[in-house]
Amino acid sequence: MNNLDGGHFNNTYSCLPDYFYTKLDPTPLENPRLVAFSASAGQLLDLEDSWKTREELTLIGSGNRAWPGSEPLAMVYSGHQFGAYNPQLGDGRGLLLGELVNTRGEKWDLHLKGAGQTPYSRFGDGRAVLRSCIREYLASEALHHLGIPTTRALFVVTSDTPVYRETTEAGSTLLRLARSHIRFGHFEYFYYSAPSGKKRYKALKELADYTIEQHFHDLEGMAAIAGSDRGYQRFYSEVVRRTATLIAQWQAAGFAHGIMNTDNMSIIGDTFDYGPYGFMDDFNWYYICNHSDHSGRYAFSQQPDIGYWNCGRLGQALVPLFDDGELIQKALDQYPKIYTQTYTRLMLYKLGLAEEEQDDAELVRNLLQLLHDSRCDYTRFFRILSSFPSEQTSEQLAQLTSNSSLAPWLDIYQKRLKRNPLNDQTRQQQMKQVNPKYILRNYLAQQAIEKAEQDDYREIENLMNVLVSPCEEHPDFEHYAQKPPEWGKKLEVSCSS
Ligand code: AMP
Ligand code: MG
Repeated sequence: MNNLDGGHFNNTYSCLPDYFYTKLDPTPLENPRLVAFSASAGQLLDLEDSWKTREELTLIGSGNRAWPGSEPLAMVYSGHQFGAYNPQLGDGRGLLLGELVNTRGEKWDLHLKGAGQTPYSRFGDGRAVLRSCIREYLASEALHHLGIPTTRALFVVTSDTPVYRETTEAGSTLLRLARSHIRFGHFEYFYYSAPSGKKRYKALKELADYTIEQHFHDLEGMAAIAGSDRGYQRFYSEVVRRTATLIAQWQAAGFAHGIMNTDNMSIIGDTFDYGPYGFMDDFNWYYICNHSDHSGRYAFSQQPDIGYWNCGRLGQALVPLFDDGELIQKALDQYPKIYTQTYTRLMLYKLGLAEEEQDDAELVRNLLQLLHDSRCDYTRFFRILSSFPSEQTSEQLAQLTSNSSLAPWLDIYQKRLKRNPLNDQTRQQQMKQVNPKYILRNYLAQQAIEKAEQDDYREIENLMNVLVSPCEEHPDFEHYAQKPPEWGKKLEVSCSS
């Protein structure tokens, strides 16, 4: 029975030696209320929708009651932030409550974000505010339902405990689910902080072996090579592959993470640690969603290169595990190819093209240039294009882009479609399955947050209704698919959450 009354925990991380974490309990919040509960994430723990009415969730989420079987701990890690190594990180405002096994035998980390101070809080208060919890809740569920690997969000709780940011806000928590909370930064921590002496990299090897055993043992051939150079290469290659694939998916969806520090990179290739992210409205290569990112290091167009750079930092941290360091470079060298192939394939799906032809990459490039030049709404463009060809579609696209390059591009596209093995109807249907009508536009999240701050949580639920099936039609929520208002494009989001 996997629920709050007697869930089956298998807390493997807390069995690692104590230099991997600090065990401690959450610090309670006052007068907690449940803000949102994701039925879809609840299924991962065998929790039915009716759980949202159970008081235990709110008590657990606010640190007023322990989840039976949990063993809360703060993980230690470090990482490269904006390109510079920071040796002093770790769970400063979140705790790994434990690892719950569902009836299908899947193990899920339960992580409570906003649980109070830990030894890794540095100068922080260990808290999270309501807006940042709602933003992670909505975005992780939105990306999941777009088919993009991500951590999940079970619920959000808010309280009367004051938290001081630019103004006083409500201390809140988010219960995050993930198959793993191990970050690139975990490996960096044990690489850079290793003591001198013979057993210098003991902890690094323990962490690598643990990670492989928990999350990579299913890789073909791994059983025979685990613990050897080849085994570590196989593991690292897989991380590189998943990272390149993930970022290709972000690029195709128009998603910017905003703060791709290595401590925010998941070792299993999930989208991880939602902060100042943004789903792009108007297409712009140089889109910067993080107001604190003054140099544009994490601008939309930079993400593929940053993913590569981050994989390089992980590779560096793994060097002591290898006799032959060349194996690391060889694995890393695969990144550009995997990224480009995946991105091209995803963009061809968006264009409804079933088989790649030589000039297709150029077709995509020219389209993106056109969208960039006219700052055209990315999601709406592809959704409307999914009904092409028709007079009405061409008119709508022309209105949306107001760019003289559109008509010649559509001509080439139409000729290209003639060589496509799919008939129009099948292609249009398929395109509508990959070109969402609804995305989590920044202003929609903002509206839901502002209402929630007034204790009205209905907007979160309404938004979730469309985000769980973003490619379907939702006639009652047509307004969520409209172009954002001008004020909605200028919202600024920073890290102070
Ligand atoms: P983030 O920007 O959320 O990825 O956090 C970067 C680092 O700062 C992590 O080690 C966090 O645990 C820590 N941190 C962020 N906010 C707080 C806070 N309010 N209190 C304590 N630590 C924090
Ligand atoms: Mg982080």
